[in-house]
Amino acid sequence: MPRPILATIHTQALRDNLSLARCAADDARVWAVVKANAYGHGIERVFEGLRGADGFALLDLNEAQRVRDLGWRGPILLLEGVFELRDLELCSRLDLWHTVHCDAQIDMLAAHKTNVAQRVFLKMNSGMNRLGFAPERYRSAWTRLNALPQVDEISLMTHFSDADGAKGVAEQMAVFAAMTHDLPGERSLSNSAATLRHMAHADQAMGQPSTKLVSDWVRPGIALYGSAPDFPEHSAADWGLQPSMTLAAKIIAVQALSAGASVGYGSNFLAQDAMRVGVVACGYADGYPRICPTGTPVLVDGTRTRTVGRVSMDMITVDLTAVPQAGPGSVVTLWGTAANGAVLSIDEVAACAQTVGYELMCGLASRVPVEVAA
Ligand SMILES: *Cc1c(COP(=O)(O)O)cnc(C)c1O
Repeated sequence: MPRPILATIHTQALRDNLSLARCAADDARVWAVVKANAYGHGIERVFEGLRGADGFALLDLNEAQRVRDLGWRGPILLLEGVFELRDLELCSRLDLWHTVHCDAQIDMLAAHKTNVAQRVFLKMNSGMNRLGFAPERYRSAWTRLNALPQVDEISLMTHFSDADGAKGVAEQMAVFAAMTHDLPGERSLSNSAATLRHMAHADQAMGQPSTKLVSDWVRPGIALYGSAPDFPEHSAADWGLQPSMTLAAKIIAVQALSAGASVGYGSNFLAQDAMRVGVVACGYADGYPRICPTGTPVLVDGTRTRTVGRVSMDMITVDLTAVPQAGPGSVVTLWGTAANGAVLSIDEVAACAQTVGYELMCGLASRVPVEVAA
């Protein structure tokens, strides 16, 4: 028998989350962001749930190839663009749209021999200071691109640093709008947080008639996977998002602790009173963060309880006080949805691990078997 641990990908949840993002974005077309192997889910495993998107956005050429291998004929966008000249050949062959964020990428395009002009997304650095042309250099980059026979349509793109927080998107929106107001081309601005929180705001900042200007293409990632981009201000449930990944494992042993007994490495949890503890077949080598302290929530047979003691490589230990009927074979949901419908958001577990849901999804270990559910 394989070790009793399983990740489940929920196809219907992906579909529903995609519809929700689409509604939030009004009439915008939706890039389903599937970088990092679909945020750890597996591109092939999420494809059915996300094929209703208008395009797939990702970073790796081999991931683009995998999306084409699945039979996808629609748009694919390389979010970081190409890394070397020969990548452009694959862009031509696979019909990929690609981001242009620096002069070197324009040089490569100018050197690329092709009969088929390519669609590019010209990226502005409107304040994030990662990728993109500075606002004052953006128009000259556009003019240079526009003169190249290798380039077909130019779309305009930027990325927000604070769409999920107090600072918001207004400043970056204003910079982007000022530099692009009279340039033709479709716009792509919003990640999940901006899509859920700022579409109306973004529209206002652009002035009228603005909806089209800001909303041609949105780029939700994390929301599709059922995690709130702005947790804890909002939970996934507040947004109506459902977990697309459940990580569950079984209890493989039970210990009866007497008052004062400890559990696990370092003896850092001491039982106040006599209690039962379940030993669960999931540890940090499965992607469950070692940093999670005593008190991190778990569901045992769908009932909420907590971890106790240190996370080890292959096991964690959980408090069974609230679930006296639980024993070996009981299912423990580390995040996601339990059989009784109870949900433990990955965001809550991530917060206990001082990180975000993104990192936990991406960190699911390859040794964990994964099943795709309808
Ligand atoms: C990852 C990424 C996104 C998606 O961000 P989420 O916060 O997951 O919605 C959108 N745009 C770009 C450029 C990205 O790199």
